[in-house]
Amino acid sequence: MLIDLWSLLSYEGKEMVLQAELDMNSLDTGINKFDFIEKQPLSFKFTHTGNKHVIIEADVDVILNMPCDRCLEDVKTNISLKTSKEIDLNEDSETDDVNETIFMDGTVFDSEKFVYGEILVNLPMKVLCSENCKGICNRCGTNLNHGSCGCDTTELDPRMAKVLEVFNSFKEV
Ligand SMILES: [Zn+2]
Ligand SMILES: [Zn+2]
Repeated sequence: MLIDLWSLLSYEGKEMVLQAELDMNSLDTGINKFDFIEKQPLSFKFTHTGNKHVIIEADVDVILNMPCDRCLEDVKTNISLKTSKEIDLNEDSETDDVNETIFMDGTVFDSEKFVYGEILVNLPMKVLCSENCKGICNRCGTNLNHGSCGCDTTELDPRMAKVLEVFNSFKEV
């Protein structure tokens, strides 16, 4: 949703509160694509603090499907954040916030781009379906949370492992 903040600049202290729906159905990070399962309406509050400076406050509450780091099954991941950013709408202002140039076009604020950037920097580094996730068998790919596969996963003797490594490197050629 595009929101023109121009009218806010008419006087100092002017506020604007509104809600917007998040249009995107998935979050494309460039590497991964995560689907939204739930999206609460986004809440925004814009305050003109004077001299064409505007504070943007936003509440974001979404649930994304993200794969478990160990077993790759989808994990419902809640991302709930409150953020506050000050922007300068003076035409000659220079910003060192790269994001600002993405979500602002003149006085027009783009809620999708803003929220995309906020969710991106708040994505968890590691997602686990449970602390005790057993992961997948690195031989056959069975999800070990659902049962064992019968593969021999006992650790190899390091010397034997070395021999196997050499053997496997021949196979790959
Ligand atoms: Zn898992
Ligand atoms: Zn296996």
